[in-house]
Amino acid sequence: MGEFELIRRYFQRPPRRDDVVLGSGDDCALLAVPAGELLAVSTDTLVSGVHFFAEVDPRALGHKALAVNLSDLAAMGATARWASLALTLPVVDEAWVAAFAEGFLALADEHQVELIGGDMTRGPLSITVTIQGTVPQEGALRRSGASPGDDLYVSGALGGAALALQHLLGKRSLSAEILAPLRRALEWPQPRLALGEGLRGLASAALDLSDGLASDLRHLLAASGVGAEVALEQIPLPAPLGALPPEEAWALALAGGDDYELCFSAPPQQAAAIQALAARLACPVTLIGRITERAGELRWQHSGQPVAPHWQGWDHFKEAP
Ligand SMILES: [Mg+2]
Repeated sequence: MGEFELIRRYFQRPPRRDDVVLGSGDDCALLAVPAGELLAVSTDTLVSGVHFFAEVDPRALGHKALAVNLSDLAAMGATARWASLALTLPVVDEAWVAAFAEGFLALADEHQVELIGGDMTRGPLSITVTIQGTVPQEGALRRSGASPGDDLYVSGALGGAALALQHLLGKRSLSAEILAPLRRALEWPQPRLALGEGLRGLASAALDLSDGLASDLRHLLAASGVGAEVALEQIPLPAPLGALPPEEAWALALAGGDDYELCFSAPPQQAAAIQALAARLACPVTLIGRITERAGELRWQHSGQPVAPHWQGWDHFKEAP
């Protein structure tokens, strides 16, 4: 089966959004950006053997390829609208493509995202998704808005995906019962779009956690020209991490990566509104510290005592820890 036939059979569907003036099938898609809104665009590539195991369930891979992109829109407070997909495959395996498309399109439907085009080529397995959304002119959550005295929060729990990865790499052995929910966090991350939209006007700065809080938070601090102190006992951990020695749990939760939760700052007077939003969305949000004045200074504490970190977030251009 050729490229066009595969695309037609597994990816092409009737139009789903009326802001798509022209969908896939021409040289470009034509999209209508609502008046008064800005286009929010992000792109992410997943490479076999780097970001995922070649033998991973293709349905999960389709989900995750879109999820990690949607997470970037969530971090900006943007509303998701359109995606395009570039798929490079070593061989044309129709069952694989069908399952990949199923995972991708199921998540797209969940967030009313329309696939508006893409490309399929032969080569080492890799997936590039470009996601587009919109955000009101003054509504975007940037990394640069945090001020000293702001509270610092994270959504969900951190480190579960990293613990599952350690098991899959043979560095730890977890029971099937403990592994199942952690593996779901790793392979089926849920982008926090509703939380991001709800934080417009409440949060002062935000980003999503892909490499681990310890390194991602530094980006927010650098962009805002501020520092932070984080209370380690407040970091939300999935139950299996709570059972580990604290140093090991912190390393996973702060430097393991692949969490796709939001980290954000907000003035203390927004605390009640933020907890009300979290309750309405049934999305846990935890206060983990506060923004301080010293630019770039990130202080870790436990019960008020300083803790020297030995962990570091994931960096593709450094050696693995
Ligand atoms: Mg991001």
